Amino acid sequence: MDLLQHAGLRRTRCREAVIGYFLEKGVALAHADLEQALPAYDRVTLYRTLATFMEHQLLHKVVDDGAVVKYALSETAHEHHHHVHFKCVQCQTTTCLAEVEAPRMSLPPAYEVHEQNLLLVGVCPTCH
Ligand SMILES: [Zn+2]
Ligand SMILES: [Zn+2]
Repeated sequence: MDLLQHAGLRRTRCREAVIGYFLEKGVALAHADLEQALPAYDRVTLYRTLATFMEHQLLHKVVDDGAVVKYALSETAHEHHHHVHFKCVQCQTTTCLAEVEAPRMSLPPAYEVHEQNLLLVGVCPTCH
C-alpha cells in the first residue's frame, strides 16, 4: 500500500480500499464497479477519491468502446500516456498492456497531441 505514500497522499480507509480493489482486479474499472464493490463508501466519496487519484497520477483514464469512463492504476507516473489498452469481447474487461508502447504518430505541422488512446479489441488470454 505504499502507492498512497509514494504519491504524497494521506491514507484514508476509502483510498486504501479503492487502491486495493484496483490491485485485486488488475483491470480497468468504472465508478459503478467501485460503487458496487465497496458499498461502505457513498458515490461522492468515491468520485472524490478517483479525482484525487487522477490528479496525483495514480490512475489514468481508459477509453474503451463502452459509454462509461474507466480508470486504471498507473504503475509509474510517466507511463500513462504511452501504452496500449486491450478490450476483450468475451469477458468485456479492459486491461492496460503497460509493456506495449503505443507507436508515435507523426502529424501535420501545428497539431499538438495532448492525449493518445489506443484500444485494441479482441480475445484475452483468460478467454482464449
Ligand atoms: Zn476475456
Ligand atoms: Zn492503462
